[in-house]
Amino acid sequence: MRFVTISHNGQAQVGVLDADTGEVSLAVDGSNRPVRELLSIIASDTARSVKRAAGRPLKASDVKLLAPIPRPARNVICVGKNYHEHAHEFASSGFDSSSKSTADAVPDFPIIFTKAPECVIGAGDDIRYPAGVSDGVDYEAELAVVIGRGGRGISKADAYDHVFGYTIVNDVTARDLQGRHKQWFLGKSLDTFCPMGPSLVTADEVDPENLSVKCWVNGELRQNANTKDLIFDIPTLIETISAGITLYPGDVIATGTPAGVGIGFKPPKYLKPGDRVAIEIGNLGRLENALAS
Ligand code: MG
Repeated sequence: MRFVTISHNGQAQVGVLDADTGEVSLAVDGSNRPVRELLSIIASDTARSVKRAAGRPLKASDVKLLAPIPRPARNVICVGKNYHEHAHEFASSGFDSSSKSTADAVPDFPIIFTKAPECVIGAGDDIRYPAGVSDGVDYEAELAVVIGRGGRGISKADAYDHVFGYTIVNDVTARDLQGRHKQWFLGKSLDTFCPMGPSLVTADEVDPENLSVKCWVNGELRQNANTKDLIFDIPTLIETISAGITLYPGDVIATGTPAGVGIGFKPPKYLKPGDRVAIEIGNLGRLENALAS
């Protein structure tokens, strides 16, 4: 199933998107009550009882999309340098405080950081250009995993049993802040720096180990990779994170970005006000956002 969260009559409302027709049906629970937030059906493990409401579906182009989980309950968990080619481009950029040279560009263990949940925005929302705060705004197309059943000490073998579904995240980054402050939270968590969506596709419809990852800036293809090239796969990430930190339903894990980010070009191709960033990952749809001044 392909869940979306929309703004409908002034309220958040969960819908079911038909990818073929582009139509959104309002979602109701087993008692025919409107489903207001995906977090509640993920946490209560009731997604299977969700139905399309009676009545004519809405055209996706006519509804205001929110992020599928507009305000995650906890920080968005992120993975740094998780594609080989990107690890090398970042290590040689001069902004990578996690390695000394390209010789140790590829990490031995996953690099985990987080983004503040308040910076999540939906498909079509503007990324606010942080004038006066950063001159090095960059894009990062990423497959994101949404946890279903929580747990601690989850083994690789059991990891996929804990995945509810998948969405797209743009891990927008202020490179100058990331470099200057050595730790990544500040440069990753500026307001509006986590576009997410357009939908949350349930795990049964996704092969996460073979998804194309593409990102365009103003129509120019910048990133073009496949999740087959992840250094640390999803089971490894879930096992690593949950070893000592309990994962909860609705937690979002952004799995890292491939090569082709702005910092990888010489000179860097940072984003400017008016630029448009579009990301497509496998069958997860298209996440497009513009930079507003
Ligand atoms: Mg990233």
